[in-house]
Amino acid sequence: MIYLDNNATTPLAPEALAVYRESMEVFGNASSVHQAGRRARALLQESRESLAQLLEVDEANLIFTSGGTEALNLAMLGVFLPDLKKRHLILSPVEHSAVLETARYLSRLGVEISFLQVDSQGRLDLSSLEELVRPETGLISVMWANNETGNLYPVDEIAEIARRYSIPFLCDAVQVLGKVKLDIKSKNIDFLSASSHKFHGPKGVGFLYLRSGTVWQAPLRGGRQERGRRPGTENIPAIAAMVAALKRAQQTQVEDQCRVTALRDRLQKGIFSTISGCHLHGDPERRVGNTLNLRIEGVAGESALIRLDMAGVAVSVGAACESGSLEPSHVLLAMGLEPRHAMDGLRFSLSRYNTEAEIDRTLEILPQVVRQIRGF
Ligand code: PLP
Repeated sequence: MIYLDNNATTPLAPEALAVYRESMEVFGNASSVHQAGRRARALLQESRESLAQLLEVDEANLIFTSGGTEALNLAMLGVFLPDLKKRHLILSPVEHSAVLETARYLSRLGVEISFLQVDSQGRLDLSSLEELVRPETGLISVMWANNETGNLYPVDEIAEIARRYSIPFLCDAVQVLGKVKLDIKSKNIDFLSASSHKFHGPKGVGFLYLRSGTVWQAPLRGGRQERGRRPGTENIPAIAAMVAALKRAQQTQVEDQCRVTALRDRLQKGIFSTISGCHLHGDPERRVGNTLNLRIEGVAGESALIRLDMAGVAVSVGAACESGSLEPSHVLLAMGLEPRHAMDGLRFSLSRYNTEAEIDRTLEILPQVVRQIRGF
């Protein structure tokens, strides 16, 4: 199989798998007093320290979670639930459903939501951000990179505006960790979410970065794990393997991203030069190097996906978490596409494990698939 759906999830890195296997034997509960517990606690602490080093942040600022969705929920609920007077939230309309659905829940509790606008390439209109700010604005939430188009958002500028108005800033970094140097500390980011399975780590684990001094209260109730900020017994083998995956990703990050970007560009160029009626979705200038999203006239996204799958190429239509439903993509709708076209965004997302031969094979298969669907 040629796997080009890495924004949905990535295969486990061998280095992460090795650590995962090894640490499965560390079965103790990190809260237990006995030897087994102490061993687990030591591995947890070692993982936390390594992660803090890799991210160049203080270990006290890291909260392990079950993934990106939980990290985003923790951040948003922890801002608004304790203080519903801060009843205004500013969002981009292209956020992941983990943010949008949490916002919808908060709006039922009385939090008002303002959306920033994006243009036809999915670029944010930052000029409207300051106009949307109110005295009761409790949070600004904008993702670092979009999972469907790969668009990169101006995190520095948003952080700067948020700082000027003393509003906490939540940045969903799920699609950039392991691909882009984050430099979290030098930016004015209060909350940052990450998910292991997007950078060749195991599924069901991630973390929330929480800046010191940010006003926030733990929204989940339970034990005192994670300094009382996230209750629940830690999944230590997964945490250790996530850290190994990030370490591996960062070792060759720059070279890998150059190579992946060249492969993505080869794919894009090849598709646009052999297939008529292609439309690029997203910002051609400011995109993560691994992502290509496009629509092909006369080709329903779902049909292309199924035929590509039958030919051994895995891609996706819209957001992976929503695939299975025939809903138009909310990201493409926000960019002004008609609903019938917003169903047809084909997303190719690469990783460091893809090869030139795979891209060339895809460039042979896709035109055949398009001919079959178009009937000529
Ligand atoms: N945020 C973005 C941008 C994502 O792409 C995803 C997953 O697709 C998530 C959040 C949710 O992460 P998780 O699958 O770890 O819950």
